[in-house]
Amino acid sequence: MKLCRYNNNQLGLVEGDQIIDVTAALELIPPMRYPAPLGDQLIANLGAVLARANALKANAPRLSLASVKLLPPVGNPTKIINAPINYVKHIQESNADPGIKHGRTTITHISDWGLFLKATSSLVGFGDEVRLLYPERRNDHELELAIIIGKQGKNIARENARQYIAGYAMGLDMTTRGKELLSWRKSGDTYALLGPWFTTADEIADPNALDLELKVNGETRQKANTRDLVYNVDRLIEYASDKYTLYPGDIILTGTPEGVGPVVPGDVMQLYIAGLGRAEVRIAPAYAGPPERPA
Ligand code: MN
Repeated sequence: MKLCRYNNNQLGLVEGDQIIDVTAALELIPPMRYPAPLGDQLIANLGAVLARANALKANAPRLSLASVKLLPPVGNPTKIINAPINYVKHIQESNADPGIKHGRTTITHISDWGLFLKATSSLVGFGDEVRLLYPERRNDHELELAIIIGKQGKNIARENARQYIAGYAMGLDMTTRGKELLSWRKSGDTYALLGPWFTTADEIADPNALDLELKVNGETRQKANTRDLVYNVDRLIEYASDKYTLYPGDIILTGTPEGVGPVVPGDVMQLYIAGLGRAEVRIAPAYAGPPERPA
């Protein structure tokens, strides 16, 4: 099933170019008292919500997918975990391009770098535009397969990893190049995108064999397959959960393949991952920078 959030936190099933409004299924999520439990409560209650959504479906209103604003399909992840260098050809292009490397020592292997986090406040859906934080600097697109974790886990062996996956989506890890820490350059508002919707794990037979493609203004920049991941989906869950407790709704961006490159205001990116949909995202035009604040 394909599940989306749209407009004012409505819930929809996606079928072809239509959305079936199953917002009433959100009533299955138990009411919360402060402090809210860690983890996204839609994903934590996904089985019950999907069962109710299915029951509502026949008599639910339908609307055109093109008529709504898509929100990120996960509203409250506790973290957005990212694999930094996880395709060999991306490591090679990073070492060869001073605009990516920025004077760092040789970029080697994910086992040397570990993983990094993007702020959850950086997350938007494909109905939003990316607002460049440093429009005068190089800002790159990184299309990545996103894993959505389905239940709490720690020290998960790769052999058991699939039991912890609720589903998948397309992820876009927007990146300002420069000398600063990853969490500064990759984590500003609108620099994490997830969408266009959430595809349940049962629809993806092998997440380690998915075609990905990103175009900018119609020109192909990234074209790859997740079979070339250095740490594949299962190994990444093992690697991440060795240090972090994973919670429902946590997002793992599995790393970008080669072909990263700059975007500028007004550019439109076309994104595709097999089985997960197609979408367009625009870089906000003529963005004047963040509002001025006193020093
Ligand atoms: Mn990335």
